[in-house]
Amino acid sequence: MSDDCIFCKIASGEMESELVYEDDSVVAFSDINPVAPHHILIIPRKHIASINEIGEGEAKLIGRLFLAAGKLAKDLGVDQPGYRCVINTNKDAGQAVFHIHLHLLAGRKLGWPPG
Ligand code: AMP
Ligand code: ZN
Repeated sequence: MSDDCIFCKIASGEMESELVYEDDSVVAFSDINPVAPHHILIIPRKHIASINEIGEGEAKLIGRLFLAAGKLAKDLGVDQPGYRCVINTNKDAGQAVFHIHLHLLAGRKLGWPPG
């Protein structure tokens, strides 16, 4: 837990969010500023700042973010039409919150390449 991290606070329940999934290692909640009809953020409970800080011992934990994404996509009924999972890393990608989070975007046709 990092004291000044809003996603650590969401994971611990100290800060409110619209939770859509949680288990012992992962939490998922609605993005406060959605850019698609379905926009969910999936995070590890453990504070990891970005992809650059993932350690060897966290490979299984990171895999759990994707397992949660697949489950949520199925529950939302977007697994067949399709969806996008994105992790922004550092300045050029526009990372704003430095607690790793997997964006799950769905519910509209998503353009490529992204902006
Ligand atoms: P990124 O640019 O990848 O770091 O994305 C950060 C995301 O977190 C943005 O899409 C924000 O809208 C979202 N966000 C920031 N604060 C909150 C919050 N308190 N609850 C839910 N989503 C948030
Ligand atoms: Zn954190």
